[in-house]
Amino acid sequence: MKKSLIYLDQENIQNSIDLLAVIDLMYGKGNSTTYAVCLNHLGEEVTGLVDYIINIKDERIENHDLVNLTNCLDELQKTYAFDSILIPATQTGRMLAPRLSMRLHVGLVADVTAIEHQNGNLEMVRPAFSGKIMAGIVNKGRLPIMMSVRQNVFNYNSDESKNTEKIEFLPTNIQPSTIQLLDSKEKERSLDIRDSEILISGGGGVQDNFHCLDMLAQQLDAQVSASRRIVDSGLASRRIQVGQSGKTVSPRLYIALGIYGSLQHIEGLNNVENIISVNIDKDAPICSLSDIVVVGDAVEFIERLVKKIKNNRKIETGENL
Ligand SMILES: Cc1cc2nc3c(=O)[nH]c(=O)nc-3n(C[C@H](O)[C@H](O)[C@H](O)COP(=O)(O)OP(=O)(O)OC[C@H]3O[C@@H](n4cnc5c(N)ncnc54)[C@H](O)[C@@H]3O)c2cc1C
Repeated sequence: MKKSLIYLDQENIQNSIDLLAVIDLMYGKGNSTTYAVCLNHLGEEVTGLVDYIINIKDERIENHDLVNLTNCLDELQKTYAFDSILIPATQTGRMLAPRLSMRLHVGLVADVTAIEHQNGNLEMVRPAFSGKIMAGIVNKGRLPIMMSVRQNVFNYNSDESKNTEKIEFLPTNIQPSTIQLLDSKEKERSLDIRDSEILISGGGGVQDNFHCLDMLAQQLDAQVSASRRIVDSGLASRRIQVGQSGKTVSPRLYIALGIYGSLQHIEGLNNVENIISVNIDKDAPICSLSDIVVVGDAVEFIERLVKKIKNNRKIETGENL
């Protein structure tokens, strides 16, 4: 039986839970004893989903204290000898994973997007060279296998209920933190397209009119995203690119305006609840994936929809009565 550890990032619990799907893909369902580690937290979110919850209990350690977190995970590895350690590629995870792999003297595969089994080897797949190739990486060195896992790619769904055991871990190697939290502010609104419930996405079909998408996004309280065509044209930042070499998104609604639906773009859509596409070509591949297809000009669609929403609001508020 293998032993796997997942790191529960308090700031992104769902992506931490989804690491369990990766373990199932690696070893097969039920072939690994699963441990979840959390910091000063009982890990209620994974109770019933994992075999053990390890609560690092030490109020001196805070979430941003990567030095002491690394010390704790190092100590845990020495105690439990995990076969694999999985960390979500969240902001904290991206900083923690390389520190820990250095400490354990093992390799790290960062930003994993798929798991494959080839010729008896377990391959961790990740985009390389700005997404130009997908690299399958095999660990031929010592254990544990370490990886950080790209957010929103895997999805853990299980109705099983495990008899989770709780372990309280009192670390012995704690150093005074060199980082002090002076102030914190509530995040106003995330600018990360992965956090948006509605995405208004533009492609080659809107090109120079890409700025028009803002009008619709404002009305729907949504964020704007783009295909690589728009990003490569310099009309949008790579931060908002959806796809293989961009971000993987899972909004409730994805409105694809003038997007063809290339494989590399579609790869960035994971568990999207509804897709509406607007395209002059009803046979564009994105249309066959869409719940609603509007055949026509994307900019005209935006203008008419924005007008309609504004009119409806006026009626609701009685503004024009
Ligand atoms: C290694 C690699 C990685 C890549 N990674 C990504 C990635 O992460 N994300 C990504 O998006 N792409 C990626 N690409 C590029 C991808 O292959 C496509 O070239 C790109 O997605 C095309 O963008 P598009 O659909 O917006 O544009 P186009 O291919 O130009 O399609 C435009 C669409 O708009 C329609 N249209 C035209 N005029 C109108 C109009 N007036 N109104 C409505 N519709 C209209 C057309 O019918 C067409 O379907 C990658 C490519 C490679 C080789």
